[in-house]
Amino acid sequence: MPAPVETELYDVLGVPPSASEGDIKKAYRQKAREQHPDKNPNDPEASAKFQELGAAYEILSDPQSRGIYDERGLGGLSGAGGPSGGMDAADVFAQFFGGGAGFGGGPGGFGFDFDFGPGGPRRKRDDVIPYEVTLEDLYNGKSVKLNMEKNATCGTCQGSGGKKGAKPKPCAKCEGKGWTYTQTQISHARIATARAKCSDCNGEKEKIREKDRCKRCKGEKTVKEKTRQEIFIEKGMSDRQRIVLAGAADEEPGQPAGDVVFVLKQKPHLVFERSGADLLTTVTITLSEALLGFSRIMLTHLDGRGIKVTSPPMKVIKPNHTIVLRGEGMPTYKRPDHKGDLYVGLEIEMPDESWARSVDKAALRPLLPPKREDVSPLPAIVDEVDYEEADIEEVRERSFPAGANFFDGVFGQFGDGADDEEEEDWEDEEEDDHNFGFHPAGEPECRPQ
Ligand SMILES: [Zn+2]
Ligand SMILES: [Zn+2]
Repeated sequence: MPAPVETELYDVLGVPPSASEGDIKKAYRQKAREQHPDKNPNDPEASAKFQELGAAYEILSDPQSRGIYDERGLGGLSGAGGPSGGMDAADVFAQFFGGGAGFGGGPGGFGFDFDFGPGGPRRKRDDVIPYEVTLEDLYNGKSVKLNMEKNATCGTCQGSGGKKGAKPKPCAKCEGKGWTYTQTQISHARIATARAKCSDCNGEKEKIREKDRCKRCKGEKTVKEKTRQEIFIEKGMSDRQRIVLAGAADEEPGQPAGDVVFVLKQKPHLVFERSGADLLTTVTITLSEALLGFSRIMLTHLDGRGIKVTSPPMKVIKPNHTIVLRGEGMPTYKRPDHKGDLYVGLEIEMPDESWARSVDKAALRPLLPPKREDVSPLPAIVDEVDYEEADIEEVRERSFPAGANFFDGVFGQFGDGADDEEEEDWEDEEEDDHNFGFHPAGEPECRPQ
């Protein structure tokens, strides 16, 4: 199979383009469960994401529409050439990604061009551009200057494309209809006949004779116009938030110019994970710090500040201990002085064998808590077995090739012998963990500039 021209739909489901039908179905079910709007009441985009997911599945679960998508992308599924089932789904995508295409000179412009054919709805065309930002950008705010190029209505002919007084003539190729028939092979056995916009007159039914064309735009009606735009990444903006430059997209004569919409895409951060207004990170402390306490600069924040923390006197820090640094989370959008919290998981680094060899164990023993006794009551039969190190991850993969959730449930049994009550707590934690970082609670919104 040649590489697909687009992978957006696969990305939505989180599967590679080589995924089997079963993989796609499985991924969809899992994602649908996680992303159901009822489960994400704090995510204002939950229902949009859920719909997007459904649309992606609708296209990829049908071998025929999937084949067309792989070969020609979403564009191949739109219009009359696609299978009847594909149209709605492709249309849903049109809403999410805007109908625009061909953003000139922009950074990685993309968009799906939906041709509704003659008589179809003509909508304002927005250019939707994903824009990658770092967590530092979203914490500190940033202004970005961009050189952009757009099609602007030609001022010389006022968008008529012709010299003064020139009258257009009906297009010869489409005989003034604006469209022609095209045939599309959708499988080796089926050929679809579709109406497509006439390529000669661009669907406008008429053309201006060569000699009557406007000198400046050469009959194109629009000219390339370079503009310098500035967008502001404001403190506290969220992943997927949209920044709208109203009317900055290509102009077409007789139509309002669309907007250029930047959709922020937050790059994963090496140190911090974001969950709405809160941040999460892990810091490693030594055994000595866990037992005797610490007072030190633990981390460098997103604005470069050192963050110093002192543990309370007599505090013994246990494994999986988490602390919260109030007001050290992300700034709130539009209220940057109001910040969320920073959660710090403390990981205790145990000393290694070279340390163990270097210390006087006899001197250390009385300083440490006493060793454990045998299990009680004492079993009647006792076997002596060998001590051998193992990799629990590997055991789980080998023994339970089921879903990841299943392994998580098993972990309790392999782990510290948690009783039922503890296991239930653990389940809840997993739920929280899961939401951490994936569903920002901030409010993405459209904002004209
Ligand atoms: Zn012109
Ligand atoms: Zn024509």
